[in-house]
Amino acid sequence: RTVYVNGDYVPEAEAKVSVFDRGFLFADGVYEVTSVLDGKLIDFDGHAKRLERSLGELEIGVPLSREDLLEVHRQLIARNELTDGLIYLQITRGAADRDFIYPAADTPQTVVLFTQAKPGLADSPVARTGLKVISIDDIRWGRRDIKTVQLLYPSMGKMMAKAAGADDAWMVEDGVVTEGTSNNAYIVKNGKIITRHLGTEILHGITRAAVLRFAREAQMEVEERAFSIEEAQDADEAFITSASSFVTPVVEIDGATVGTGKPGFVATRLREIYLDESRKKSV
Ligand code: PLP
Repeated sequence: RTVYVNGDYVPEAEAKVSVFDRGFLFADGVYEVTSVLDGKLIDFDGHAKRLERSLGELEIGVPLSREDLLEVHRQLIARNELTDGLIYLQITRGAADRDFIYPAADTPQTVVLFTQAKPGLADSPVARTGLKVISIDDIRWGRRDIKTVQLLYPSMGKMMAKAAGADDAWMVEDGVVTEGTSNNAYIVKNGKIITRHLGTEILHGITRAAVLRFAREAQMEVEERAFSIEEAQDADEAFITSASSFVTPVVEIDGATVGTGKPGFVATRLREIYLDESRKKSV
């Protein structure tokens, strides 16, 4: 694989980042994941905008313009002959002698992009069978709206899910669901789509924004509010959204079957609409 590191395209085995990189020492960095279908980027502009916001919230400089970022993404697609897959973009505050205090503002950020090939990303079998999720306490920090590289707890959550024979975990705080370990969470009751309102408690999913827009355009009712695990278990349908899973049904929560136990009509329809519409606008 060819990866991008600080201005250069290099074979992954030759890519180097400093041991003093603040991403490594302090998890002082942000990232984005953009999906690629048929060699084109899905929702690129949304991801680029959120990246700038994440950097701004942490007072990390913006190392590349949106146009330059798009060019790097396109170069990696071409150089790696990527048809279907993901592109990860990691930016840290850069390398400096270890100190909690941020280094001087002119310290160059570390910028790394790499691809992950996922043949058949848009027709993964799990979209047809649905996911099983467990609930876990949400013990992450309070600024989940910033897409930081602090992914240890989500990683632990996926391990807990795996150990429990499930596919993923939904996190619960103050008795209500915040989001999935790497996705936004939804339920459907009497035709109404319910998903957590935006705030600092969840990541503002780019897929979430697009899916809610398409749902409203299709005259589906949407309510942005918190819901409990009990309400979700009693719902007609449940599903998740993310750049890598698009819209994927959830059929079991903490061992309880949701609805019929099969992917529901709303989740299935939203997945079709999302894939169709975002493919049309892919760059
Ligand atoms: N919530 C969390 C915690 C995530 O990590 C992600 C994606 O990685 C999402 C939600 C979904 O966001 P997006 O649709 O922008 O991929």
